[in-house]
Amino acid sequence: MNVTLTLLDTGFCRQLEAISLGGGRFQSIRFHAVAGCMHHPDHGLLLFDTGYAPHFFTAAARFPYSLYAKATPVFTERSQCVKEQLASKGIGPEQVTGIFISHFHADHIAGLHDFPGARLYCFRSAYEEVKGLKGIAAVRRGFLPELMPEDFEERAIFIDDGPKIRLSGEYHPFEEAYDPFADKSLLAVDLSGHAKGQFGLFLRDTQDRDIFLCADAAWSSEAYRKHRPPHPVAHLIKADAASYLRNLRRLHELHRSWPELYILPTHCPEVHELSKGEFAWS
Ligand SMILES: [Zn+2]
Repeated sequence: MNVTLTLLDTGFCRQLEAISLGGGRFQSIRFHAVAGCMHHPDHGLLLFDTGYAPHFFTAAARFPYSLYAKATPVFTERSQCVKEQLASKGIGPEQVTGIFISHFHADHIAGLHDFPGARLYCFRSAYEEVKGLKGIAAVRRGFLPELMPEDFEERAIFIDDGPKIRLSGEYHPFEEAYDPFADKSLLAVDLSGHAKGQFGLFLRDTQDRDIFLCADAAWSSEAYRKHRPPHPVAHLIKADAASYLRNLRRLHELHRSWPELYILPTHCPEVHELSKGEFAWS
């Protein structure tokens, strides 16, 4: 079953290029946070992450959470948050039935409060990692607790509690996935490393484009295309450097054996361009 996919730019933070790309410059570049908006024939409107939203600034206002905003200065306008972008198309937040949360870093969940009726799809392993975290321990994991809805657990659907299915050869080296809607429309694969329990979503859209939303398993398309892992400094802020490198290698292999597949990392400059072009609202 095919879904439509629109990419929405929700603003950016500044970070050194050298941190995200091996051999990159020691120069501050923009890291856009691009969210996905999908329409599924049976499940309606769904999001893949929410990117930034004004809630980020309230959640990061007080120490020690302010350290997060200092480390990666964030630039976003109210009109850029997913809720406002949907509103500009005449879509109310209640029409969003579900949000796939790739992982719990603040640049992916800042808009959760805007969709109080949505089911929240994530990996249990990712949620357990941040559940109840506060203060410095939270900041160290890129997590701002105020961004979490109070009724999170009542609305949560833990993807990794479900059964796995075997993937066909074209997905190699990925061999198994979760199938949350049991219709093969969205296939979730574990991409732990950048964060524990981070996942990516395979889908085929209504224009027959094969797409892999890979969140932060790579920070740029250059990184998986040429297999350029980030500067070792970046490993300090990764949950599990060995898993990260293993999954980046997998993305590289996947790209080589399936070049037509759109592999879309959240913060890649090319993905930001796609949000204004091929994957803009049609
Ligand atoms: Zn991110």
